[in-house]
Amino acid sequence: MRIFSGIQPTGSKHLGNYIGAIRQYVDGQDRGEAIYCIVDLHAITVPYEPATLRRTVLDTTAMLIAAGLDPQRCILFRQSEVHEHSELCWLLSAVTAHGDLNRMHQFKEKSARQRELVSAGLFFYPVLQAADILAYRADEVPVGDDQRQHIELARDIAERFNERFGETLVVPRHRIPEVGARIMDLQSPDQKMSTTASSEAGTLHVLDDDRAITKKIKSAVTDSGSDVVRAPDKAGISNLIEILSVVRGERPDAIEREFADSGYGGFKTAVAEAVVEYLRPVRERYHELRGDEAELERTLVEGGEKAREIAAPTLADVRERMGVGAVAAQVRS
Ligand code: ATP
Ligand code: MG
Repeated sequence: MRIFSGIQPTGSKHLGNYIGAIRQYVDGQDRGEAIYCIVDLHAITVPYEPATLRRTVLDTTAMLIAAGLDPQRCILFRQSEVHEHSELCWLLSAVTAHGDLNRMHQFKEKSARQRELVSAGLFFYPVLQAADILAYRADEVPVGDDQRQHIELARDIAERFNERFGETLVVPRHRIPEVGARIMDLQSPDQKMSTTASSEAGTLHVLDDDRAITKKIKSAVTDSGSDVVRAPDKAGISNLIEILSVVRGERPDAIEREFADSGYGGFKTAVAEAVVEYLRPVRERYHELRGDEAELERTLVEGGEKAREIAAPTLADVRERMGVGAVAAQVRS
């Protein structure tokens, strides 16, 4: 079984990324052949600084290793090092419906936030994402709930390609966690915690220190009630229940029972303490790893070589099926 996922190197990663995605990446190493990609080509679709991007790729690499990715047991690489992704993106655009791209929620949300340029890259993002996944003929894609629609599109693209050009690509399925697939912003619990859209107070960064974590959780927006239960009109409390559930590895209803009489103050204190303990080892390990940039670069380059060995034959098959480029046998004779 092959597992593939990508993560953006924009800004600093947050508890939503950790719980929705990174936690599953770590598990994936025991479940199959795991391939993870730092998607710098996706990060350039919104305003960014080139020097900062180089730095944040290394930040994200160190974070993933600190979280438990082992480059000996998975392939970890930088998207832009494997040129097959961008070529495959273009080839797959031929079997991507413009109307489907027009329906993507992420584009609608992110384009509405842009103050200057809405790049064509932002619109095309899901095609590149499909290429990322399909290049590896991945069976499974661990992601948070917000990526459901994009994985659905990748499936449609693979199916349309196979119908049009013959069985070539693997149709992937998403793997979305049952609890914690959509961690909400602590200050606006109707919006997902986001790398690029959330406020500082609403975002729990994996690298926040103990005091910052405690302060943000204690100031999380709740409601005027006092019951620690999940409900549609209690988005803030529901979010904190999910967070504690994942962090402790207990069912959400067990959390509700435990805090039935405690009120919001006591509950928030417990959530803060648990999250502090959960993230501290990752943060400490991150700081040990982040200083050695040469080692991080080496890891990414080696990962890129392994990734290319898998992606290149897929691209060659796709080119051949599509009638693109010279026929290899004829060039040799
Ligand atoms: P942006 O909002 O700019 O897209 P992001 O926070 O979504 O940034 P990504 O790198 O795009 O970060 O996402 C990495 C992974 O984290 C994806 O699998 C995504 O589904 C997951 N993820 C992102 N936000 C959340 C969240 N709030 N809860 C759970 N999973 C999330
Ligand atoms: Mg995202």
